[in-house]
Amino acid sequence: MEIVVIISLVIGILLLNRPVTVLCQRLYTRHQFKRFIARETFYHSVVSRHFRYYNRLGLEEQRKFLFRTYLFQHAKNFHYIEVEPSAEMPILVSAAAVQLTFGLDKFKLNYFDDIFILRDDYHYGYYSRPFMGHVDQTGIYLSWDNFMKGISGQTANCNVGLHEMAHALAYVNFITQTEEDRHFKKEFPNFSKVARPIFTSMQQGEVRAKNLLGDYAATNYHEFWAVAVEVFFESPVAFRHELPELYEAMACVLNQDPLNFISGSTTIIRRPEAKKISEETIASSAKEAL
Ligand SMILES: [Zn+2]
Repeated sequence: MEIVVIISLVIGILLLNRPVTVLCQRLYTRHQFKRFIARETFYHSVVSRHFRYYNRLGLEEQRKFLFRTYLFQHAKNFHYIEVEPSAEMPILVSAAAVQLTFGLDKFKLNYFDDIFILRDDYHYGYYSRPFMGHVDQTGIYLSWDNFMKGISGQTANCNVGLHEMAHALAYVNFITQTEEDRHFKKEFPNFSKVARPIFTSMQQGEVRAKNLLGDYAATNYHEFWAVAVEVFFESPVAFRHELPELYEAMACVLNQDPLNFISGSTTIIRRPEAKKISEETIASSAKEAL
């Protein structure tokens, strides 16, 4: 008799485990969304000032972008090294990650709890050349002046925020496997089918292929991936013109195409006020925003 009760209990727990987890997640997301709504205007003002990508999205997508930015930021500890912290910094860094993963389901880059913001170029390990950013098992590192140059478009094809987030995305999917996105993992081999031969041609001695990705992309396949991400977002027209198959493969693996919304640029006219949003709207918006 006892054994029957124990087996029934175990089966009951197993059956209920998933629905209970899903319910808890849903309630938590709703709670977070309420908090986010109160800060949405501020997030919008910060992100819209610096992200052309964001300004090209429709109203609903902008809300999704900001909510993801909020969730990403609140899932991380930000550390500031020799740089004066500001409220904008963690929002803008989070927004860079959200831009990269906007077409994917998983966007928190779980594994990385810590993000380090340094003032400018720095030395790391035994490397002689200075770093603008890097990713290792201790966290994501970014130099603030280079990050800002990247998002303001001052440096052609160079966006250190997107570059380091691209390394982090590969890291959580393939190295730690702590936040695997089903679509990304499924499509990455198809991306590599197109990308590997291009990468190899860029490496081979005398006949080294030159293209808009530049020499640094030929360093190793990790750098090729991160540089290709930067150029994909920074110069999509030139990228598609020069390397059309690679552009398509990148759009496919990231599940987004920056050229799709360039022609249909939209501007925010009004934003819903926090206090006017009902409980019902919060529940459905919280669901849609993810
Ligand atoms: Zn790199």
